[in-house]
Amino acid sequence: MRFLCFLLLTLCFPISLWAKSHTVKKGETLWRIATNHNTTVDKLKAANGITSNNIRQGQILHLPTSRSSVSPSISRASASSRSAPLRTTAKKPTHHKVRAGEYLNSIARRYGMTVTSILKLNRISNPNNIQVGQVLALSAPSYQTQPHITTPSKPAISRSSSTITKSKPTYSRSSSRSKRYTIVIDPGHGGKDTGAVKYGLRESDLNLSVALKLASKLKAHGYRVVMTRTSDRYLSLASRAHIANKYSNSLFVSIHFNSATDRSAKGIETFYCSNRGKRLAQLVQYGIKRRIGSTRDRKVKYRRFSVLRNTNNPAILAECGFMSNYSENKRMRSTWWKEQCAEGIFEAIRKY
Ligand SMILES: [Zn+2]
Repeated sequence: MRFLCFLLLTLCFPISLWAKSHTVKKGETLWRIATNHNTTVDKLKAANGITSNNIRQGQILHLPTSRSSVSPSISRASASSRSAPLRTTAKKPTHHKVRAGEYLNSIARRYGMTVTSILKLNRISNPNNIQVGQVLALSAPSYQTQPHITTPSKPAISRSSSTITKSKPTYSRSSSRSKRYTIVIDPGHGGKDTGAVKYGLRESDLNLSVALKLASKLKAHGYRVVMTRTSDRYLSLASRAHIANKYSNSLFVSIHFNSATDRSAKGIETFYCSNRGKRLAQLVQYGIKRRIGSTRDRKVKYRRFSVLRNTNNPAILAECGFMSNYSENKRMRSTWWKEQCAEGIFEAIRKY
């Protein structure tokens, strides 16, 4: 049995992947470690067999090599990362002026650089010392315009375009993917049906806010998006499913926030009703939970909700946090929370 485990481990994680390791220092996040070591949070987690974003000081993390694919799910994820970006011959910025609220992490990510390289280039010893208005030099050797692509692998030249002289990034592989589906976004409740109302917050408003953010992300990446509602209006459950069923290639994403009599209940959960929906639900659940980080992972669940039962194509219903939980309620008011939910669902759809 021991031998079998060893064999399995060896097969899953070639020794070469373990060649480097990193001891977690105080205050470090997975994200920062990944950025500093030219890898992604996903790969880091996979290489260490961890599922949550929580790491502790002193923990030893194995660093994956940047080009390796560790498991089928990860190779899929990295394939989707490779699919987006793109070489552009547009003028590369040589400098960046720090704006309010920006961190080195986000700046590095934006230009496809590492925090370390920016620090070196600008001879900054303390990353906490950057200030608004400060001008940073950028080397940007492999400049990528996709801010959420963190894999610093070689830019992939788009398959279909034989020239690389376009001024805009091309999305050939991702756009073929984006054309495959019509994304039907369903902000739960609306109008006379407010959904849960907790501590002055209405679920129908939260749902719509996340839905609109998701819609604009998808549209920006060439997806065809249909909203069941774009304003605070009432819509029956049957008509929501009916809208989804008008499109033979629809993916139906219903967005909700949770509520329970037990005020300690908290976290993210995603529901499905079919096998195809289950896979989408798993990606959505992982996407949101990974981004929100510190809350409970309530996993995916099978439920015969009306909108899931009556849609013909893959359909999920995401519950993006508990309004009845006081501290979660406070956090979900922020743009940040809603943004993470939208981004998590967006990533899931891209991977699906
Ligand atoms: Zn609801």
